Amino acid sequence: MANNTKIFKLQGKVQHYTWGGMDFIPALLHLSNSDKKPFAEYWMGAHDNVPAEVVLPDGSLQPLNAFIKQDAVALLGNSVHQRFGRLPYLLKVLDVKDMLSIQVHPTKAAAVSAFAAENMKGTPLNAPNRNYKDDNHKPELMLALSNFWLLHGFKSPQALVSILMQTPELQFLVPVFNNKNYHALYEMVMTMDQIEVDEHLRPLLDRIVPLYEKGFLNRSQEDFWAARAAKTFCEPNKIDRGIFSIYLFNLVKLQPGEAIFQDAGIPHAYLEGQNMEIMANSDNVLRGGLTNKYIDVPELMHHTKFEAVIPDIIKGTAGAVAVETVFPTPAADFELRKLELKTGSPVSLTAATAEIYFVYEGAVKATDGQREISLRKGEALLSTAGAAFELQPSHDAVVFRATVPQ
Ligand SMILES: [Zn+2]
Repeated sequence: MANNTKIFKLQGKVQHYTWGGMDFIPALLHLSNSDKKPFAEYWMGAHDNVPAEVVLPDGSLQPLNAFIKQDAVALLGNSVHQRFGRLPYLLKVLDVKDMLSIQVHPTKAAAVSAFAAENMKGTPLNAPNRNYKDDNHKPELMLALSNFWLLHGFKSPQALVSILMQTPELQFLVPVFNNKNYHALYEMVMTMDQIEVDEHLRPLLDRIVPLYEKGFLNRSQEDFWAARAAKTFCEPNKIDRGIFSIYLFNLVKLQPGEAIFQDAGIPHAYLEGQNMEIMANSDNVLRGGLTNKYIDVPELMHHTKFEAVIPDIIKGTAGAVAVETVFPTPAADFELRKLELKTGSPVSLTAATAEIYFVYEGAVKATDGQREISLRKGEALLSTAGAAFELQPSHDAVVFRATVPQ
């Protein structure tokens, strides 16, 4: 590696999933989008399917997974190398225009065995009915960049009974939830015959979709999202059963700057908005509706935690460096930090492992005594373990830092 520098520019990869918006990510990355493609996610990480690219000092590009493999101990640092053997996290920017599928992520132990089992069966990695893309868990933290709406965990018993009672077409579920039986309730809606799904949800949609279309519903009402889901996903005579879940899960609104953590087993769905996401390096998703993609109900049921969740909104705590806000979680795989830098006040940093710095607003210069790298909004820096460098904001800047808990 030329002159032993430990800082590099890093280029992420855009994912054009159909649910993405057309403006937010192109504007952030200074790209034009004249053919109106959806820009759903921007991935900055070393996932084998979609690695970011390191810009080497000679200007050539190398995929981040290959870059790390060539000297993993030095680049990740001893401790992270021993614990994970790879870059443990994946950092993303998301722009959710159309709601995403309801999903649950497996635990690490479950992912290891299930990934091996699917390999044994010979299910190709890219097969539509493949559940496990890798052998890792996928706890995730998301930080809202705009007002952000999501579903997150089962409602409390009181809130659940209350919404079912208020919604005449769903009152039939109240006795099923007798004795706070989340498992019985979810199993019923997930395994019900499609004809029965349509029989229960058709009258609901007939009532609420016209209200939605006239603008009489608002985002804090489950009916709003159920009607929107019906318009987004439902084929004639095949209403998406994920609509039941909109009423069963907590409907959460995050303000810009607020974060929420989703551990293994917590059902969730992103409904609308932009966020930064950091997660264990994995793509393992089990889906439960609001999607045209593959749904494996027994597998989903097996990995879902059937308990009430009280959403814990994380506002961040002051870090060791004054300009830093830390968003701690129980996950050992990642930590997200936000740096708010003022023009003329540089900050000195030391990388605990291979870290990624994403410039969300403003512009900075990174210098390690050997190289100087200018980064404008939408650009990212990779600093390898032990890198000591300075970030100098040339305008007031907001920089997100992906690292591991220290
Ligand atoms: Zn998820």
